[in-house]
This record gives sequence, structure tokens and C-alpha cells, in this order.
Amino acid sequence: MVHLKDNFGRTFPYFRISITDVCNFKCGYCLPDGYKKPDNKKTFLTIDEIRRIGIALSELGVCKIRLTGGEPTVRKDFIDIVKNLKSLPGIKKVLMTTNGYNLKQIAKPLMEQKIDGINISIDSLDREKFKFITGMDKLEDILAGLKLLQENNFKKIKINAVLLKGVNDSEEDFNNWQQFIKSNYVDFRYIELMQTGDNLDYFKKYHVSANVFRDYLLKKEWIHQTAGFDSGPSKNYIHKDFRGKFGIIAPYSKDFCKSCNRLRITAQGDLRLCLFGDTGISLRALLQNDEQIPQLKDLINAQLNFKKESHYLELGNTGITPHLASIGG
Ligand code: SAM
Ligand code: SF4
Repeated sequence: MVHLKDNFGRTFPYFRISITDVCNFKCGYCLPDGYKKPDNKKTFLTIDEIRRIGIALSELGVCKIRLTGGEPTVRKDFIDIVKNLKSLPGIKKVLMTTNGYNLKQIAKPLMEQKIDGINISIDSLDREKFKFITGMDKLEDILAGLKLLQENNFKKIKINAVLLKGVNDSEEDFNNWQQFIKSNYVDFRYIELMQTGDNLDYFKKYHVSANVFRDYLLKKEWIHQTAGFDSGPSKNYIHKDFRGKFGIIAPYSKDFCKSCNRLRITAQGDLRLCLFGDTGISLRALLQNDEQIPQLKDLINAQLNFKKESHYLELGNTGITPHLASIGG
């Protein structure tokens, strides 16, 4: 059952909800100076507002919700948010993206809530490189959290790294990840660095085409796998000798937007049709009580008519997105 459809025939079984803009890391491509509280007094979505979004989305045929941020797990009510969304009929998967800083502490409660998947951002397996990229010396803690998940037989783990020229794009870096997924049951994906409103200099310095990793995979006899209906834009590769998969998310590649199946809601309740769109319509006024849910559904449905065919990122159009922490990357 998928109701949400745009004018280009794309359907939307998948939503990302950002639940906070706050983050405790300082990734060079995202928040190099750390999170700064903005002047506006807007608060982040409350647990009740998130629940109403979840109900509306499930009635619109959305079956998969990813919680993201900023760093979603800085919220004290994070586990309750997961619990709430998991209780909604129709929402078959609740997933999350995290920098993993407190994974050791929250791994058990997350598994108790039966979280359906955890994406952990780990830009390098080398402690110094990790520190250089994220501004934090947290690699050991994150890996310990990952280990705890694995010891408890939790298998739905993906690791994401942003590919950065001259930092983590060498054959040695790729070999390290290959070794890692041989001994760990995880999928690993490189994301090509995206230009956002705030990171032009960083982008110019570190952007490299994800083809360098694709060429490596083909050389090592990894085989491209076709995608499922609710899977994201990642191109996945499998290999008979490995349990984990490799993936590439290449937003600048031709036809990337053709398979777009996701919409986003920001931490302040704006619906964003595209990561790099020019507008965001506020849903907040319709999130205040359960009686508004039919209107909320109508608004989301109507907005889909405005979803554009492509992000035009290749033309340097980053829309109104200063950094991905502001929209939930
Ligand atoms: N804080 C969490 C984390 O880092 O996993 C969740 C939010 S973060 C914005 C989501 C993902 O976006 C992370 O994997 C991060 O590496 C990625 N990201 C952030 N800025 C990016 C950029 N400019 N280009 C590509 N990926 C980016
Ligand atoms: Fe924080 Fe994630 Fe942005 Fe890094 S990518 S600064 S962890 S929001």
C-alpha cells in the first residue's frame, strides 16, 4: 500500500524525521565549528507531534521511518520516541542514523524496543583520521558500541562514511573496510561528499567522485546488486567471500534522483521535498491535536505536486540547506 506519489511517478514509502538539530560532533563537512543555537525561538518537535506525524504517515502508506538529526540520540526522550513510533500499526520499520557516541549506553534499550536498523557514521577506522574528520576522539567508544550490538546478535547495522579526497579514499582505506566487513556482519557505504550552503571551501578541497571506490570494488570482484522497492539510493555490491555488503551513495551520479523514495521533516516540523530544495512548508500548526490528522495528511499529499524532478546539485544549487544537520541527512 503506497499512496504518496509525485508527478514523476515516484512513490514514497520512506520518511526521515529529524528530531533535533543539535549535535555534539564537529564534522568538517557538516558542523565544523560545532552546533550553534540559532536566534529563533523555535523548539524541536515534541514526542506527541512526532507521534501524530507517524500516524498521518502510516495512513498515507509510509511503512518506514528513519530518525535522524543533528544527533538524534542527544534527546533524552529518544528511546520513548522509538517506542512510540514502533507502536503504530502500518509503520513496519523504525530506523535511526547516529554518530554512535553513546551507542554503548543505548544499544540495549534500542534492541529492547526492537529498532529495525541502525546506521552508524564512521568516516575512518584510523583513530587520527577519524579525529581529523569529526573533531572528536571517539572512534574506540563507537566501535565498542558496535561490538555490543553484535554480541547481542543484532544484525541490522550499516556503517556510512563520507568519502574525502586525500583523507579516506586510498586503497589502504578501502582494504581496511574490506577487512572489517569480512570479520563483522555489517554493510558499509561510502557517501560522496555533497556541497551544502555552508561548506563550499571544504567541498572544493575534499570532494572526489565515488567512482574511485566503485573502480576498487570492481577490481576486487564485487558484484553490483539490484535494489528493492523501499531501499535507498545506495548502489550495493556483494561478494561470495563476504557476509557484509558494500554500497555507494553518489548524489552527483546521473539518474540519482530517479530512484528517490524519501521525504523529510525537519526538527522544527517543516516538510522538505528534497535535501536541496528551495522551500520547506511548516506542518507544525497541524500537529497540535489528533483531530488535525486528516488535514495533515491532505497537506502532505498536496505538497507532493511540488516535488521537483532533480536536485540540480550539479549546478551548485544547494537550496536552503546550510548543512545536513539542519535537515537530517
Ligand atoms: N549525526 C548523525 C550522523 O552523523 O550519523 C545523523 C545526522 S548526519 C547529518 C547524517 C549523515 O549525513 C551522516 O552519515 C553524515 O556523514 C552525512 N553527511 C553530513 N553532511 C554531509 C555532506 N555534506 N555530504 C555527504 N554526507 C554528509
Ligand atoms: Fe553531527 Fe552527524 Fe553533522 Fe557529524 S554529520 S556534525 S555527527 S550531524
